[in-house]
Amino acid sequence: MKHDAIVLGAGMVGVCCALHLQARGLSVALVDRRAPGMETSYGNAGIIQREAIAPYALDRDLGFLLSGMTNRRTDVRYHLGDAARLLGPLWSYYQNSAPEAYQKIAAEYETLIACSLETHEQLMHDANARHLVARRGYLTLYRSERDLHELFKVADERARQGVNHVKLSGVDVAQAEPSLVGRFAGAVRWTDPLAIRSPGDLVQAYARLFAQRRGTLHLGDAIALRQTDAGHWQVDAADDVLQAPQVVVALGPWTTDLTQRYGYTVPMIPKRGYHVHYAPQPLKPLNSTVIDGDHGFVVAPMKDGLRLTTGAELAMPDAPRTPGQIEAAEKIARRVYPLGQRVEREPWMGTRPCMPDMKPVFGAVPGVPGMWCAFGHGHQGFTLGPITGELLAAMVAGAPPRVDVQPFSPARFAA
Ligand SMILES: Cc1cc2nc3c(=O)[nH]c(=O)nc-3n(C[C@H](O)[C@H](O)[C@H](O)COP(=O)(O)OP(=O)(O)OC[C@H]3O[C@@H](n4cnc5c(N)ncnc54)[C@H](O)[C@@H]3O)c2cc1C
Repeated sequence: MKHDAIVLGAGMVGVCCALHLQARGLSVALVDRRAPGMETSYGNAGIIQREAIAPYALDRDLGFLLSGMTNRRTDVRYHLGDAARLLGPLWSYYQNSAPEAYQKIAAEYETLIACSLETHEQLMHDANARHLVARRGYLTLYRSERDLHELFKVADERARQGVNHVKLSGVDVAQAEPSLVGRFAGAVRWTDPLAIRSPGDLVQAYARLFAQRRGTLHLGDAIALRQTDAGHWQVDAADDVLQAPQVVVALGPWTTDLTQRYGYTVPMIPKRGYHVHYAPQPLKPLNSTVIDGDHGFVVAPMKDGLRLTTGAELAMPDAPRTPGQIEAAEKIARRVYPLGQRVEREPWMGTRPCMPDMKPVFGAVPGVPGMWCAFGHGHQGFTLGPITGELLAAMVAGAPPRVDVQPFSPARFAA
């Protein structure tokens, strides 16, 4: 079947690229080896993070770096066997986290985050998916006055850039979340973000919208991509041979497995994360999604129970699973949050595809006519899928994108 474009990868980013290409009048085929939204876009913490106007920098504090080396922290761990491979990208991440470089990166990042709510709201409206929003806002909690003071400073800075919040004292926290055990200095309730009760279901709702608008969804292996003599792209899907002059590679952490065959690769920092669901306790509800600032994990009330997600594990996506980090997080979380029995025995694991400059990568793949990519959204790909799709579709259609896309260009990593 001939199309105008093939999108490879049906995570949040790929589905949104497909929808926006379609909105520009292109006939689009969307290909994934699984059903839409079953990988990273399924397993995340489900927050549409309008407040995240600055990406996660590497903490350059010596105390943090030394304690990180012990590999016992709950927020960051690493695989020693992958350390040598990741050293170069991590060094570049460290440099990009220095104040001057970081300030510029954050200003660029903010141009995308600023569009995240409106772009999701529009798709949720069109896809009839508003019921998947559990609530507006979430809490970041701290136990020490010093950490809380720093968080309040960040919140005030962000308020000057249009991010809304409410400051909570320890007493306010106890009132808002009476099921929590222990003393907290206080919290910030970020009031703009949307907490989604099932992230995978939201991607699937968007994919259904794509199908209703005459897009075609196919099962298939993207690695089988090839070029015809006429220079068109071809993929063997389970039900059809698909052909198009344009292809968008949106395979999340697997993107460069494909693009490297065409000479394009990037120094990705894979930040793996785990989650487990716990049965909620009916008499002890958790009212909001909570980021536990001291320990770097999230507890989110979701369709399948309370979902505990971990911070970052620096390890290659295909390296063996090491669930020590989630077990350590669970031990702490059990003392504080109303977690019932584990719903799954085995934790889910996925990989945040992070770039050393903390920015996503989308646009034309250098030196490969007709190939585009959209990946590398790190900690906020669930948030940034719709705006990425909108901007990428504008580029493919030759129209001016409404945000300056140059900072996100794939060419910044070209050899
Ligand atoms: C623990 C954790 C918590 C997170 N919390 C948040 C959050 O609260 N908010 C937020 O905004 N972001 C969050 N993120 C980040 C976010 O989940 C990712 O940035 C985002 O899901 C990436 O989307 P994607 O579409 O690029 O990748 P994916 O969702 O991984 O999609 C890639 C798709 O490519 C497909 N694919 C791969 N290889 C092939 C192949 N060979 N052939 C065919 N198909 C293939 C996969 O099946 C998959 O469907 C979190 C991530 C983790 C791990």
